[in-house]
Amino acid sequence: MAKLAKSPWLLHYDASSCNGCDIEVLDCTTPRFDIERFGIINTGDPFQADILLVTGGVNAQSEAVVKQIYSQMPNPKVVVAVGICACTGGVFKECYNIKGGVDTVIPVDVYVPGCAARPQAIIDGVVKALEILDKKRRDYAQARKSGQADEAEGGNEPWNT
Ligand code: SF4
Repeated sequence: MAKLAKSPWLLHYDASSCNGCDIEVLDCTTPRFDIERFGIINTGDPFQADILLVTGGVNAQSEAVVKQIYSQMPNPKVVVAVGICACTGGVFKECYNIKGGVDTVIPVDVYVPGCAARPQAIIDGVVKALEILDKKRRDYAQARKSGQADEAEGGNEPWNT
C-alpha cells in the first residue's frame, strides 16, 4: 500500500442505493473490518475529503449533488463506485429515472462490483484508490510546478464547472 503524507479523508454519498451497499460501507468502519487502520477518516465535509465513495446509481435527483460534491473536493481526489448499481446502474439501469453508473456524471477511478459489495471488496477498492491518489498527488505537484495543475485534474471538464 502507498505511504501517504496525510491521512486520507473519505466522504460517502448514497446516490440512490437500496441501502444494502451502505450497510456494508458502515461495516467497514466497525472494529471487525476497521478501515481506520489505514488512517482513513470518514468525513461529511467535501472540502476536506480526498476520496468520494458513491453507492447506488445516479438518478435525476442525485446527479446535481454528485457533481457538486465532486467539484467541492480539492484536487487531487479519487472516486470509488461501490456496488454494481454505482458501477453501471445495476438492476435499476432501465428505470426511467436512472441515468446510469457514477461515471455517467463524474470520472470514476475504482469500481467495486457486487450486490451488495462485501466489506473486504470495499476495503480492497479503497486501498487501490489510495495508490491512485498517491500517484495523482505526485503528478499534481509536478503539474503545479509547471503551472498546469487544473489541466492535470480535469479542471476544464464539465463536472468542474
Ligand atoms: S448493488 Fe445491490 S445492494 Fe448495492 S445498492 Fe445496488 S441493489 Fe442495493
